[in-house]
Amino acid sequence: MQYKAFIGIGSNLGIPAENCEQAIRLLHTPPGIEVIARSSLYESEPVGKIEQDWFVNTAVAIRTSLTPEALLNALFKIEKTLGRERREKWGPRIIDLDILAYEDRVIHTTALTLPHPEMTKRRFVLLPLSEFAGDYMHPVENKTIHTLLQELPESPQVKKVLSTS
Ligand code: AMP
Repeated sequence: MQYKAFIGIGSNLGIPAENCEQAIRLLHTPPGIEVIARSSLYESEPVGKIEQDWFVNTAVAIRTSLTPEALLNALFKIEKTLGRERREKWGPRIIDLDILAYEDRVIHTTALTLPHPEMTKRRFVLLPLSEFAGDYMHPVENKTIHTLLQELPESPQVKKVLSTS
């Protein structure tokens, strides 16, 4: 069976845009994952711990034969390959890969919450996602990505990156 899932990607260390591009390339490597859509890159003002560099964020849609738990492990491996070490909440990070949603599954375990619990509050997640999944119905909120995005305030700022060169 093939399932559809959305992955959020973010970085604010090193060359963040390149780290995000590299993460997308690496998402093609584990067996059972195929990237079927991607968004533009966005620059976003840090939330939580604000005295750090802006983030670059993007999102992809994948088709996968992996279970949500196996997919999360595959994302951890990619984070490790890209050199992620510290897991300080809100802190700077070379790469962060999150499962935003997996079909319309609702999961609450210690390792995994689906849909991602912060996604509805984060413009830097909803804006990239809206490029290819605007009509996706959030299975808990029962609202589309477009609607959730319209309901969010304009701040913190999120701006499309016009050129990565
Ligand atoms: P982070 O610091 O954002 O990379 O948080 C990673 C932690 O969040 C890991 O321990 C995961 O088990 C947990 N987690 C819970 N739900 C998710 C999700 N939907 N996607 C990614 N990580 C998740």
